[in-house]
Amino acid sequence: MPIKPENRGRYPANWGEIRARILARAGNCCEQCRVANGDLIVRGIDKDAGTFQRFEGDGEVYAADDGRLLGRCRASEYCGNRWTRVVLTIAHLDHVPEHCDDGNLKALCQRCHLAYDAEHHAATARETRRSRKAIGDLFAGPLETGEAG
Ligand SMILES: [Zn+2]
Repeated sequence: MPIKPENRGRYPANWGEIRARILARAGNCCEQCRVANGDLIVRGIDKDAGTFQRFEGDGEVYAADDGRLLGRCRASEYCGNRWTRVVLTIAHLDHVPEHCDDGNLKALCQRCHLAYDAEHHAATARETRRSRKAIGDLFAGPLETGEAG
């Protein structure tokens, strides 16, 4: 995910170095689905949803979630969208841009980064609902029970 303009100031000055180090650690591949930075791939749709095929190679089809080889398919029979150039991004596992310890960073392709963030957004939304409910419970609590102290 590109750095949002309002978050730019939250990244350390040496972010470029950190980014390069994490990409090198990952072998310049997505740490989730193993696609290589700069690789040309097509993502499956319809019958081939959840998979991708590389431009290079011999028609191998890979699982989009973890990059395992699923089999082979002629490009002409593969149900894909359009060729896409993989651009690796660096994900903060705790979603805090200031936290740039290597253990909190992961090289991810666009798809895996979005999927990771979507899980976080869902969890955050659940947490927000839960805390709203907790506040609601606080005010809805039985005020007449017991005595203070
Ligand atoms: Zn990936």
